[in-house]
Amino acid sequence: MDCSICSTMPFILRPPRNAICADCYEGARSLIKFTNKLDNDKAGVGVDKSTNTSSSVSSPNSSKGFANALKLVKEMKDMEDELNEKLAFLGSFVTSFRHQIHTDIQIKPGNNGPPIPAHRALLAARSEIFKNILDSDGCKAPPNDLITLPELTYEELDSLLEFLYTGTLPKEKVEKHVYSLSVAADKYDIKFLQKFCEHRMLGSLNSSNALDVLEISDVCSNQGLKETALNFIVRNMEDVVFSARFDVFALKNPHLTVQITRASFMDIKNRRNGV
Ligand SMILES: [Zn+2]
Repeated sequence: MDCSICSTMPFILRPPRNAICADCYEGARSLIKFTNKLDNDKAGVGVDKSTNTSSSVSSPNSSKGFANALKLVKEMKDMEDELNEKLAFLGSFVTSFRHQIHTDIQIKPGNNGPPIPAHRALLAARSEIFKNILDSDGCKAPPNDLITLPELTYEELDSLLEFLYTGTLPKEKVEKHVYSLSVAADKYDIKFLQKFCEHRMLGSLNSSNALDVLEISDVCSNQGLKETALNFIVRNMEDVVFSARFDVFALKNPHLTVQITRASFMDIKNRRNGV
């Protein structure tokens, strides 16, 4: 149709009509509704669940319509710029880690790998568990200059430390170490890293890694991730169950194999019953 918003026809060639298509109409309403909701949230106004779409769009704020939405987008852009500057400012601490400036503790990986120098204060700030390890608990003296994380390889430990200093990791390091980092996040109670790993695992979930994700979610007691992985496996049973990885997985995780079998059975039953 001849939409005055998304039509590709130049303005001067268009007939003088102001009709808009259904997509633009719904998009505009949703945008105004979203802006109003943010305004109300900011003002501390409770959201009335009984309010339907039309009455919420026609709330007093909607008279400002797109002007309000545009103002919000500009505010968000300013906020993004400010946050980026703040991140760059805070992230500069990683230079002290990389150049080993004023480091005061050595972190040793397993397999007799070389220790990596770090800062006690940063470790204590990022993890309550590290804080306890570094603190004297009254009966045990605090470690002088070395703590060992035997479950991590040198590369995994280096990635963990890089994340603790920067709050992020390059894609290739995430792909390589996401499972061991997820377990470390759980063990050392680093919630932001747990969330980071979960997002990455969900974003890359496929038939070849679903069993790994299921195994890790079970180790870390991450119920939401576990359900997603289990549902994915059930929906892609043939690809997963006939892979060579499944043989090794089943031997190592008999309890999860039982759960996959049951979930698959329930899925077949529900589909037969048209649920
Ligand atoms: Zn349109």
